Amino acid sequence: MTSSSRPLLNRRLAEFGTTIFAEMSALALKTGSINLGQGFPDTDGPEEIREAAVRALRDGRGNQYPPGPGVPELRTAIAAHQERRYGLSYDPDAEVLVTAGATEAIAAALLALVEPGDEVVALEPYYDSYAACIAMAGGTRVPVTLRPHDGSFRLDLDELRAAVTDRTRLLLINTPHNPTGTVLTREELAAVAELAVERDLLVITDEVYEHLVFDAAEHIPLVSFPGMRERTVSIGSAGKTFSFTGWKVGWVTAAAPLVTAVRSAKQFLTYVASGPFQYAVAEALALPDSYFDAFRADMLAKRDVLAAGLTEAGFEVFRPAGTYFITTDIRPLGPDLSQNGDGFAFCRALPELAGVVAIPNAVFYDHRDEGAPFVRFAFCKRVGVLEEAVGRLKKLAG
Ligand code: PMP
Ligand code: GLN
Repeated sequence: MTSSSRPLLNRRLAEFGTTIFAEMSALALKTGSINLGQGFPDTDGPEEIREAAVRALRDGRGNQYPPGPGVPELRTAIAAHQERRYGLSYDPDAEVLVTAGATEAIAAALLALVEPGDEVVALEPYYDSYAACIAMAGGTRVPVTLRPHDGSFRLDLDELRAAVTDRTRLLLINTPHNPTGTVLTREELAAVAELAVERDLLVITDEVYEHLVFDAAEHIPLVSFPGMRERTVSIGSAGKTFSFTGWKVGWVTAAAPLVTAVRSAKQFLTYVASGPFQYAVAEALALPDSYFDAFRADMLAKRDVLAAGLTEAGFEVFRPAGTYFITTDIRPLGPDLSQNGDGFAFCRALPELAGVVAIPNAVFYDHRDEGAPFVRFAFCKRVGVLEEAVGRLKKLAG
């Protein structure tokens, strides 16, 4: 302990306490509640991919420091996935970087590309690590709020344009979007791309839910729009796509100068991570389309179970076009139950009241009042678990 009165945690991080995910998962454990808060599946990914990790461990592949950019097998598999899925071509040696989950990719990209004082325009609500990493980089975040419109949260392109100033260095985009489940349309993405080109901005695009897109929605990589190849850092993750969130294998694909910049920061964060898992994820990325189709169909069925249940329990449900989260408005539950529309108070009370844990979207907002009535539930759980949670929530509503 220091004897000075200066706080231990520096000013850049002072506003960030324990992440909401840690807080709410701890609350779930303590109260024995069903955890629909933190987004992790309650069943592991494909058995053959688990076996691939075991094989790598046994064969001594990746048990010592893998190469800084990632093992060649995985970089090649990432490039092949981008080509097969989207017709995007990347050089596995110069344009692909393996990271410790998407979390490290986001951190390294922001630390590498942002100068103190630069403005970073991000969609609000934003994934919690964005704000913390912009702050660590000394940048200023400029939120552009997605607002409810005809049953989903939409981006106002005029507001986005107005948010860009001479100090803006980059746009931080997330589609499919956590926590709202919004998938940006082709028209919206084209407008974002045009703006980036016109104002000569860099773009970081977090596409970790690329394979979780439902109904008529389509995931289109932002980098595929004209003028974007040389300015876009695209981020992916095996955690979401293969249901191994504990393995922490993520990646960046971008033009060589951008990858070189991001690697400069990355090498001093973890240097490298997840050696044997990198080999397993290389095999996972080469799984046939049938794996990805079945994964999406399974999550879609789960979405429908939870969406129907939450609607019956009295929530307003914003049916997500992507991700594995449903954002709800709690106000229709009435002032008493919804704690006067205060999602924080509601989520803190819910474990005791109903034995269910959810996430208050307000934590993802600078404009906390805008986010106050919204609460996020994860549906990446077994159907029986979702049904039990829904049953509990329905009883609550009486
Ligand atoms: N970005 C978004 C939008 C996320 O939801 C998450 C976590 N679920 C991450 C990044 C972090 O991914 P990873 O677990 O691969 O670090
Ligand atoms: N991305 C996950 C979510 O949104 C949580 C990951 C984490 O705990 N950092 O729920």
